[in-house]
Amino acid sequence: MFESRVYNFSAGPSMLPLDVMEQAASEMTNYRGCGMSVMEMSHRSSDFESILRAAEQDLRDLMHIPRNYSVLFLQGGGTLQFAMVPLNLFRKSFKADYVVTGTWAKKAAEEAAKFGDVRIAASSEKDGYRYIPDVTAEDFRKDADYIYVTGNNTVFGARWTAYPDTGEIPLVCDLSSGILSEEIDVNRFGLIWAGAQKNIGPAGLVIVIIRKDLLGFAPPETPTMLNYQIMADHASLYNTPPTYSIYIAGLTFRHLIDQGGIPAMEALNRKKADMLYRCIDDSSLFTAPVALRDRSLMSVVFKTSDPALDKRFIDQARERGLVNLAGHRIAGGMRASIYNAMPMEGVEALVRYIEEFDRNHSGGTNA
Ligand SMILES: *Cc1c(COP(=O)(O)O)cnc(C)c1O
Repeated sequence: MFESRVYNFSAGPSMLPLDVMEQAASEMTNYRGCGMSVMEMSHRSSDFESILRAAEQDLRDLMHIPRNYSVLFLQGGGTLQFAMVPLNLFRKSFKADYVVTGTWAKKAAEEAAKFGDVRIAASSEKDGYRYIPDVTAEDFRKDADYIYVTGNNTVFGARWTAYPDTGEIPLVCDLSSGILSEEIDVNRFGLIWAGAQKNIGPAGLVIVIIRKDLLGFAPPETPTMLNYQIMADHASLYNTPPTYSIYIAGLTFRHLIDQGGIPAMEALNRKKADMLYRCIDDSSLFTAPVALRDRSLMSVVFKTSDPALDKRFIDQARERGLVNLAGHRIAGGMRASIYNAMPMEGVEALVRYIEEFDRNHSGGTNA
């Protein structure tokens, strides 16, 4: 149907940098003279060990991850972290406070409640997750083992711009759809995790950045594969890790470094998001429901007042090679996921299409 690549606004799995995939393609059957593919390589080989170490070092450099944090390359998708976090971080009171800013946060809280006393410290659910609630240290229980937030709401499109001060209590953040998109201070967090398929590489791989003093509290009956301490002791090589996905993630990290690192990506992401929100706000047909202050740089949610018109917008977009613009099935409307790999040209093409659609369908005439 399409002669060339499309602008893919999918929420995840989502676009990867073309350079990364072309490099992977060129090395697919013979990785740098090894005579074999990375897929065919022992995870104990020196070639793979260098791939893994380089990926970790490049991620550390990109995010300025301090030495007192472990970086783990795990599997099981993002959702397994909903269980791993409580299994490993409940250690004294077995209490945790969650801020529910979207469906992923809600699911995380429900899963954690199987393992301990979970309290919802704040939630924007009754307002359709259109904003990030104001929370302060007083909103959290003093004896909580951790506080949990979701950095970017992939489904409804609000993001934290200033994380809450939790004092001595470790702050845990699901950064699946925000990692590497803007600068954050890792020191503020006890644990950051991210599924790879939004901004890093293939689905299934998860990256966990955990402060070392939080390792070692999982109870003895914890399944080996769900114990951060064991994964850290074996430097993500306890068993066979998702080797090819780690390789692709490593190519993405290197690509980002070559592009100027996170400051350069953040500048570009702000430009892309500003341009898109401005065009939506200036239109007569489309609205973006998320509070200005909290608007996501990655997940731009918008709609018209008429679901049938939304559908027409999405269908006609597809014909132009602007694909996967339908909102999440529970949110409806439209969502443009504009991760790092979405080029400025893709956002420009979407803006032109929104302007044209707005001209043709507003003012009562039905073109
Ligand atoms: C996609 C996503 C998840 C779930 O990831 P899976 O790999 O599908 O389990 C969790 N949290 C956030 C914020 C996400 O965007």
